[in-house]
Amino acid sequence: MTTTWIIVDEPGVAGLLDTARNLGRPTAAVVVGPHELAASTATAGVDRCLWLGETGDAPVEAFATAVAAVVADGAPGVVLAAARPSARALVGAVAATLRAPAMVGAVGVETDGDTVLVEREVLGGIARRTERCDGPVCLVVDGGGVPEPGAAVPVEEVTAEALAVRVVENRPSSAPQVDLAGARRVVAVGRGLKAKEDLALVDRLAEAMGAAVACSRPVAEGSGFLPKDRYVGVSGRTLTPDVYLALGISGQVQHTVGIRGAGTIVAVNTDADAPFMKECDYAVVGDLYTFVPALAAALQS
Ligand SMILES: Cc1cc2nc3c(=O)[nH]c(=O)nc-3n(C[C@H](O)[C@H](O)[C@H](O)COP(=O)(O)OP(=O)(O)OC[C@H]3O[C@@H](n4cnc5c(N)ncnc54)[C@H](O)[C@@H]3O)c2cc1C
Repeated sequence: MTTTWIIVDEPGVAGLLDTARNLGRPTAAVVVGPHELAASTATAGVDRCLWLGETGDAPVEAFATAVAAVVADGAPGVVLAAARPSARALVGAVAATLRAPAMVGAVGVETDGDTVLVEREVLGGIARRTERCDGPVCLVVDGGGVPEPGAAVPVEEVTAEALAVRVVENRPSSAPQVDLAGARRVVAVGRGLKAKEDLALVDRLAEAMGAAVACSRPVAEGSGFLPKDRYVGVSGRTLTPDVYLALGISGQVQHTVGIRGAGTIVAVNTDADAPFMKECDYAVVGDLYTFVPALAAALQS
């Protein structure tokens, strides 16, 4: 019987474990990171926990070939990694070594003997497709939160050589840090916002609401009014705030797929026929340049 492998480079792997357990195969984790990460993974409900040792000043990616060798040696069927940049790099190396497909956007996976059926969102999230893989397959899925600790298996240390890359400096980003994932209220702007300076209006409203500021993709990737880590949607962030206030965003599915789990959605748009107006709980047909200062003033008073 094949083994379901999970690649662990950060603590948030509960989603990977759920997916692995549903396959009903033995599960093994290969851990790249400090010993504490290996120790917590060993209590997360896996059958085996292999640890590549302390990484020192080498980045996670320096262990790509070592991870691939460990997994290749362990009868892999399905190999799971979280949708994070370093985990993607590791699973890519595993796929190349196994000559297996590497697939992103998996929302469901089942096995039937050696056949793996993978369900994925396609066409920007408007459709789901099932694909059949006859052999090992590497999947990038939602990593999930930190798993609850349970019974421990031993941590098996494996000697691993890091590739020739070292961290020479870490320094904080000059961009303001925003905890979008943890924000309970989010104000998001789209192309209805005409100029970067106008973000000051939005910031004032967000402050009055106790909200974080996000945006649609063109605002980050086109006009560059906000950093790329602030855009919401199929190729951006998935958010689950209690309140999502969308200002001047048309509401194309590639955007709204990122807020399916949001509580109350309010859309403000000059166009009563914009797609968002049918997707939201409250629709305000109006100019954001009138609405935003008025709501900020009302909240402040
Ligand atoms: C493969 C693929 C992946 C994509 N991924 C993403 C993604 O992850 N996230 C994402 O956001 N997009 C994504 N897109 C782009 C997406 O399809 C839309 O083009 C994008 O979301 C539109 O952004 P927008 O609503 O800000 O701009 P627009 O579509 O231009 O809409 C602007 C809206 O503002 C309204 N408006 C104008 N002036 C005002 C005003 N003064 N007051 C109020 N309303 C006003 C207009 O009526 C209009 O509805 C993707 C596209 C593709 C093809």
